[in-house]
Amino acid sequence: MKRSSIWPAFRPLQSDLKTHKAIRGSGVWVELEDGNTIIDAVSSWWVNLHGHAHPLMVKAIAEQAARLEHIIFAGFTHEPAETLAENLLSANEGRFEKVFYSDDGSTAVEVALKMAIQYWTNIGQARKRFLAFEGAYHGDTFGAMSVGARSLFSKAYERHLFGVDFLPYPETWLDDEQLEAKEAASLKQLEAELAKNDVAALIVEPLIQGAGGMRMARPAFFRELVKRCRNAGTLVIFDEVMTGFGRTGTLFAWQKIGIEPDLLCLSKGITGGFLPLSATLVRGNVVHAFDSPDAEKAFWHAHSYTGNPLACAAGVASLHLLAEKQFERVEEMHRKRREELDKKPWVKQLRQCGTVLAFELDNGRQSGYLNPIGNQLKDAFIENGALIRPLGNTIYLMTPYTISEQEMDRLYQVMIATIEAVISD
Ligand SMILES: *Cc1c(COP(=O)(O)O)cnc(C)c1O
Repeated sequence: MKRSSIWPAFRPLQSDLKTHKAIRGSGVWVELEDGNTIIDAVSSWWVNLHGHAHPLMVKAIAEQAARLEHIIFAGFTHEPAETLAENLLSANEGRFEKVFYSDDGSTAVEVALKMAIQYWTNIGQARKRFLAFEGAYHGDTFGAMSVGARSLFSKAYERHLFGVDFLPYPETWLDDEQLEAKEAASLKQLEAELAKNDVAALIVEPLIQGAGGMRMARPAFFRELVKRCRNAGTLVIFDEVMTGFGRTGTLFAWQKIGIEPDLLCLSKGITGGFLPLSATLVRGNVVHAFDSPDAEKAFWHAHSYTGNPLACAAGVASLHLLAEKQFERVEEMHRKRREELDKKPWVKQLRQCGTVLAFELDNGRQSGYLNPIGNQLKDAFIENGALIRPLGNTIYLMTPYTISEQEMDRLYQVMIATIEAVISD
């Protein structure tokens, strides 16, 4: 067989893992070349909100493509970029002042990190240190890797990453009895770091650590976190690349927490999963430090596709569809079904936050991203009709918001039957 010309993502070049060819999608369904049709239970890497090929999204993008597909974003602006920026600010209750566009989650994080560093330079103070959380994932570019947990993914580049101090993450689940002790330990360490008066910013994935294994923590914990940082003058960056746009049950996770960060990173769901785009929303206090005619105080950062009109038009259409709040329906669907899961002997640490349901699969073997059970299950799930992609032995569901009750029933059936077949092997 001819070897593919494509360098595949997230696997060795020589691998036994299957590559599936997708032909078309409709709603939660994706049709594969081999004739199999599967439910997309990971929203195609957490980006798809309204189902595949949603006609309103298709129309918005096609109309924009016929009008203006792209224009340099230095010295120019356009209607979709302006409308989307306005709509993002109002969806965030006017708590932020400006929207800085880039292209993906990693660059939204890079922008936030660079702004945080320059904020301190611009106001003439020498704060340089970053705090982040154990188990965090913020993307694959160098800055984003630096603030993420060191792992197999970053191992080859380790000595090129900048130093970051990591706090313990108080992950929790239903019926967790240690929760308060974990939170207290984490806050205590935060206070010790903040007392040194040199922390430029803290970055965190609010409510759910995504790639780290759908690890959830309580809203109250993040409220305390932000309060302590505010008191110490330390900037807070919420990486809502995954949690944004309804995933956690409110439009943005900070709304559930009840306090906004200084910098907010958005991507993934921003275009409903149609085109790459990201945005870093900036609070007034940070904007203020850059608000000057001085070239040295300007933020020198842009990409060739910054503010792409097609992506912005998709963003406007997606926000419009989000007004229906279908994500609240999905949250309820999981709530109704999770009791059945809780009774399974192989389900550990069952947890739910908004539209995300997750648990640890306990088959008595090692945990972690490279747990072989994950790969075995991946192919079995697809064969049986569901795109479920375990993170090691963490199984999670994160579907598009348009999923019907029957489709959700089918998804649970496939998930449970497949797991029981594979672990009894
Ligand atoms: C996916 C993700 C990123 C990186 O986004 P990319 O678009 O893959 O670059 C950053 N932060 C979080 C929380 C993510 O889930």
